[in-house]
Amino acid sequence: MRASNSGLTSRPVPEWGLDMFTMLKLIEARGYTIEEAPPEVLLTAAQETRQQPPDRLRCLNPTCDQICAWTGGKGRPPLFCSKICRQQHERMRQRLEAEVAELSRGIDSCPPGGVLKRELSSERSKRVFALARYPDVRDHRAIRTME
Ligand SMILES: [Zn+2]
Repeated sequence: MRASNSGLTSRPVPEWGLDMFTMLKLIEARGYTIEEAPPEVLLTAAQETRQQPPDRLRCLNPTCDQICAWTGGKGRPPLFCSKICRQQHERMRQRLEAEVAELSRGIDSCPPGGVLKRELSSERSKRVFALARYPDVRDHRAIRTME
């Protein structure tokens, strides 16, 4: 092992790198593929993986900076900090999707080239850019607020 001064911690980093500690690598080190690994091996690898997923993440509403915490497997983990954030997220997503559809219709009816088509495309791109921050989570079984 060698010490590394780069990265977020000063913990020693093995020469083979952090990649060695992903779940897949830990399973392979035990002689299995991920498809054939028995449940006990999967659990051990998941628990030993150095790069654990964060258990505290921001509310899924991009305009909110509240934190939603992993519930430790008890109940559904919240995606939003509040019912208001969930509703704002859904309304904005629906609005942006509708505007993208309308702008696309306008773009399709414009003559090729031209300033109007270019400006409509720019407005649509702005909404597509924002829409990426509003994924459709209606079917996500983890939808719950922290309230
Ligand atoms: Zn929120």
